[in-house]
Amino acid sequence: ARQKKIRNFSIIAHIDHGKSTLADRILEYTGALSSREMQEQVLDQMDLERERGITIKLQAVRLNYKADDGEEYILNLIDTPGHVDFTYEVSRSLAACEGALLVVDAAQGIEAQTLANVYLALDNNLEIIPVINKIDLPSADPERVKQEIEDVIGLDTSEAVLASAKAGIGIKEILEQVVKQVPAPTGSPDNPLKALIFDSHYDPYKGVIVYVRVLDGSIRSGSKIKFMATEKVFEVIEVGAFKPRMTIVDSLDIGDVGFIVAGIKNVGDTRVGDTVTDAKNPALEPLPGYRKINPMVFCGLYPIETSDYNDLREALEKLQLNDASLSFEPETSTALGFGFRCGFLGLLHMDVIQERIEREFNIPLITTAPSVVFKVTLTSGEVLQIENPSLFPETGKIDYVEEPYVKAAIIVPNDYVGAIMELCQGKRGEFINMEYLDTTRVTLTYQIPLSEIVYDFFDQLKSSTKGYASFDYELSGYRQSNLVKMDIMLNGEQVDALSFIVHRDRAYNRGRIICEKLKDLIPRQMFEVPIQAAIGQKIISRETVKAMRKNVLAKCYGGDISRKRKLLEKQKEGKKRMKQVGSVEVPQEAFMAILKID
Ligand code: GDP
Ligand code: MG
Repeated sequence: ARQKKIRNFSIIAHIDHGKSTLADRILEYTGALSSREMQEQVLDQMDLERERGITIKLQAVRLNYKADDGEEYILNLIDTPGHVDFTYEVSRSLAACEGALLVVDAAQGIEAQTLANVYLALDNNLEIIPVINKIDLPSADPERVKQEIEDVIGLDTSEAVLASAKAGIGIKEILEQVVKQVPAPTGSPDNPLKALIFDSHYDPYKGVIVYVRVLDGSIRSGSKIKFMATEKVFEVIEVGAFKPRMTIVDSLDIGDVGFIVAGIKNVGDTRVGDTVTDAKNPALEPLPGYRKINPMVFCGLYPIETSDYNDLREALEKLQLNDASLSFEPETSTALGFGFRCGFLGLLHMDVIQERIEREFNIPLITTAPSVVFKVTLTSGEVLQIENPSLFPETGKIDYVEEPYVKAAIIVPNDYVGAIMELCQGKRGEFINMEYLDTTRVTLTYQIPLSEIVYDFFDQLKSSTKGYASFDYELSGYRQSNLVKMDIMLNGEQVDALSFIVHRDRAYNRGRIICEKLKDLIPRQMFEVPIQAAIGQKIISRETVKAMRKNVLAKCYGGDISRKRKLLEKQKEGKKRMKQVGSVEVPQEAFMAILKID
């Protein structure tokens, strides 16, 4: 039967090990795209992904492959992101598969995200096929990498494919292994429909388009379907497959990966991870779905134009549709007005969402510095979860404060062990252990406050190891910590959006540096602007932005008119990113200043 000829698989890898390039080669090899259509990294569709060279959203594609055994197979390839922030997306794609290609760079070997992704694949009981990529590189050492995979992960590598996605070597061997090793989907056509929603997107004409993997039964146009979590019923208008362009098909059957259009206008009716079933003959139990992942980093997003507020809400709703790890709720700031407090999995996630709102929805934003969630126990016994530093209670009311810690695993060449230890200690990290990966590399494990990771840990890790370190972390729990709230005042007025939480031992230093930073960032105004940092009532640092000289334009009068226009235009440009806070104009960068101070 057709079901026996279906293979659903993902590609997992550490970032830059060649996952997207390999996916492109596979598309090319199976003829999913004509060479005219073939452009580099078709699967990285979002503009942002191309520019940054990272995969953010998972993508699915259906391929036809005629194997050496003479049979035609249908291969569903689901691409996954490689960055630590997008683990959630990875686990979603893996749940829709029976197998995974584990791509490891032949020159670099196993990295932190290789391991994290392998664990996710094992959790989902996937058949793992090791692929050693980039064997064309002069520095490639496939034998060493094979050994490493055996020693560290415990996978048999005797049949590992040696490949070069760039040069197109080993592609056929990979497909043959997929056909032979990855199990065909199980499930029965006689059982009621069960399909897992692994992604979705909003189309202005067709409404919500849900991406599913069918586990039991089948779906066709006219079917009455029910979403089990929300209990909403819809009539299917069309079903289709990703070839890789969205193409309408007659039906989606067991093992198929495709999309459903059902005139769903309300984004809240569908949930990624939910089960689609038959409305008349529903399944008894939904599929297990996904582990809910809680956001770890929060920041305020405020429209620069107050009139964009509702559009911002709609943008967030649409983005949340296929990104359950994004959370948001309305918040008000005295300084910035009406906006949203948003929760993200990490800084890259936050960056990406912010940029998508600005580009895809055209809403200029002011973002406040990211913060983690602090647990504050009051003397009254009440426990508060503080996502917004400005809501931190007064010292007098606090019994104790706890902050989230992460267990961080850092893989690094021996030579950089000293540098990493210094970095981690500087970040209040606690050494857990050090293990040799092979003769040249070690894994260092630390407990580190998440708030310190948020403060440019990635950048420092990169610069202190010349880019040779890789890094993965998971939340390990809360610990008591001596934390205080630092307030910033501009021209004597406290700016709530600039408040931040800091360890008491570092407070003086941070207060001083942030005042210096702000002094450079805040443009001169018509009057003098004092900048102060305070803990409670106590001012710990002060700087002053001098008043602007009488008239910047005066010099240009009677002179070069185009120069004057340029100056005016430049000021207008700058305005877009400015927010009037009380009497002072504050640029966007000022709200991020605390991130770059160590
Ligand atoms: P991803 O982050 O895992 O998706 O990695 P990409 O596919 O984006 O590849 C990262 C970089 O490695 C790109 O510059 C690719 O051109 C390069 N690359 C990918 N595969 C190979 C390969 O087989 N050999 C060489 N030399 N470079 C490769
Ligand atoms: Mg990629």
